[in-house]
Amino acid sequence: MPERTESESRKLLRRLRDTLATTGGGQDRLDRITHLIADSMGTEVCSIYLFRDPETLELCATEGLRPESVHQTRMKLGEGLVGRVARTGLPVNTANAPQEKGFRYMPETGEEIYSSFLGVPIQRVGEKLGVLVVQSRTAREFSEDEIYALEVVAMVLAEMTELGVFNGDADGMRALHKQPVMIRGGTGQEGAAEGRVWLHEPRVVVTNPVADDPLTEIDRIREAVGKLRVSVDDLLSAESLDKDQKAVLEAYRMFANSRGWLRRMEEDIQRGLSAEAAVEKEQSAARARLEQVPDAYLRERLHDLDDLSNRLLRILTGQGSDTGAAMPENPVLVARNIGPAELLEYGRKLKGVVLEEGSVGSHAAIVARALAIPLVIHADRITTEALNGDQILVDGDQGIVHLRPEETVARAFRDKIAMQAAAQQRYASLRGLPAQSKCGTVTTLMMNAGLMADLPSLDGSGAEGVGLFRTELQFLVRNKMPQRAELAALYARVMDAAHGKRVAFRTLDIGSDKVLPYMKPQDEPNPAMGWRAIRVGLDKPGVLRMQLQALIRAAKGRPLTVMFPFITELSEFQTARAMVMGELHREKSLGHPVPARVEIGAMLETPSLAYAPRTFFELTDFVSIGGNDLKQFFFAADRENERVRRRYDTLNVSFLRFLSQIIARCAETGTPLSFCGEDAGRPVEALAFAALGLRGLSMRPASIGPVKALLRRVDLTEARAVIDAAMEGGAETVRPALMDWLAAQPE
Ligand code: PEP
Ligand code: MG
Repeated sequence: MPERTESESRKLLRRLRDTLATTGGGQDRLDRITHLIADSMGTEVCSIYLFRDPETLELCATEGLRPESVHQTRMKLGEGLVGRVARTGLPVNTANAPQEKGFRYMPETGEEIYSSFLGVPIQRVGEKLGVLVVQSRTAREFSEDEIYALEVVAMVLAEMTELGVFNGDADGMRALHKQPVMIRGGTGQEGAAEGRVWLHEPRVVVTNPVADDPLTEIDRIREAVGKLRVSVDDLLSAESLDKDQKAVLEAYRMFANSRGWLRRMEEDIQRGLSAEAAVEKEQSAARARLEQVPDAYLRERLHDLDDLSNRLLRILTGQGSDTGAAMPENPVLVARNIGPAELLEYGRKLKGVVLEEGSVGSHAAIVARALAIPLVIHADRITTEALNGDQILVDGDQGIVHLRPEETVARAFRDKIAMQAAAQQRYASLRGLPAQSKCGTVTTLMMNAGLMADLPSLDGSGAEGVGLFRTELQFLVRNKMPQRAELAALYARVMDAAHGKRVAFRTLDIGSDKVLPYMKPQDEPNPAMGWRAIRVGLDKPGVLRMQLQALIRAAKGRPLTVMFPFITELSEFQTARAMVMGELHREKSLGHPVPARVEIGAMLETPSLAYAPRTFFELTDFVSIGGNDLKQFFFAADRENERVRRRYDTLNVSFLRFLSQIIARCAETGTPLSFCGEDAGRPVEALAFAALGLRGLSMRPASIGPVKALLRRVDLTEARAVIDAAMEGGAETVRPALMDWLAAQPE
């Protein structure tokens, strides 16, 4: 880059900074800036377009176009050349704008006389703020150097916009992060919450985009990149990395050591940017380029580069994750993604969680579910939009987030929360009563749990026991395998807290989506149907044995209930059961007390087990239907794939017929049967299951009240007749018939 342009660019940035430092309103500043840029670039026109809403740009200041078009001329994202720059985040440079594809002539601006056009985005790491344009009469393409210079200027404008320097009365100049935003994501965990944003990783604020002394800034960036490289190497040398973590860190290392990255940032600095602004400029540019790439793998790398740039910014600014800000009351955690251990650390003090990424089966979702915190996933742009302390409403039922809501929206939302609270109050009055239907049938309602912290819900909800205690969490949140003594102590505390109520401990269900950080991950094309749960337990019995020993020791002579996940055939259950017997024998021979009674059950999560030999049903002490998995295999619909996971109704007659067969097989041998998938907690589904003959249902504690209330209101024999009639009548799902019938039932 020629020295002359460099220093001119620096001069321009300095003048820009001085202009911004003067007093005056936002409009005044913008006007002076357009004048300054046109003058410095030698163009007749310079215009600044800012977003008035996420879809519309507004001409906010111009040198050269007709002044009366300011705040009048607007275009949609993608419309015309300006709209194209905004949409793609990439520059448009043309000698003959009217000939350019997508050109749209705005007569009120008088721009028809200008032939050349150069537009660059005003953007700040994922946040599109506007477009900066220069135009001139003579037909000429702008040089690489000029594009670059204008991009550097646009970067400074972006930082200034973010800092509120251009705030004014016009719509396009309203302060950022002040408008209400509604984001539609997905449901990770049901429930509703109102609170204040708490960013897991607060945004880095850059207050000095322009720097006078490039040499100092270059020293700063080199030193920071050096520190970054060391920190990535340190991370990589950690022992407990799985394959995915390693791959991400390798990508980090590649970027951190990329000469091109550092060189580009140094060039930005030569142009007059501060080290921080240079990092952000390259981060924005890389984002814009990568967003054009359809390849999912490359887009993933975009995140890696983003993470790395954020780390670099934190090193440069000294702004750590801990900014010293106090967590607001009723915090709602907002993050791009979060690990289970970190989420667990926040614990129940969170009112809600909103993730930009995440998935239904992610570990964070499992923890959120265990903590019963409403969770919205796939909330696009939330980390860009939200600021610490913003008011936020989380609707986990609909998967919707309202950020800085209008008062009317907030009021309606509060009504919804109040109605739910009132309903819970009503349910509380049923706590001590059985789920006895009008026909006299009693259904046993139990709760699902996975944390020690869940146990108080046992009394609070009126559950008769824990029908499913998922033991994965204690394994997932650590970075090394838990010790037997640790587990035994935890299980003992769970049993103590259950005060003699039955707790069905489900042995470790890892594999599939639940990969332990310290176990070698398997590269499987279909992990849900792969080496998981009991399959791992039987092939590598060390961990399962240790877990069984911990359970036996925890019982200290009390009755113990163990169930094995994902049993697919008789022999698997026989082997697993024999392992329990073996461990009991061993404990006894060591002189340790053994449980007074041991119940050993199997989870029915694959269709095959429903057709197992009779011996299986005779041998097992109970069967618990893992409906989440069973349904995904029955309908061939991945439970974690948003596109298909809700596609098939649980009350589809095929599934109900299948459940009836399982119920009948268990009845033949007198084997107790329950259902512990999420559907058990949905009142209408629970009613259908009970009507078909299921006598045990295990669900989230919060669902016990609604399910019990409904079961007590109805006659199951009548419900059964309605289901049978709908089936015989050729319905695909019995839901409409059941709902019609329910609507006619007295409250
Ligand atoms: C199920 O599959 O229904 C179940 C209860 O187990 P998990 O959700 O832990 O796979
Ligand atoms: Mg399961």
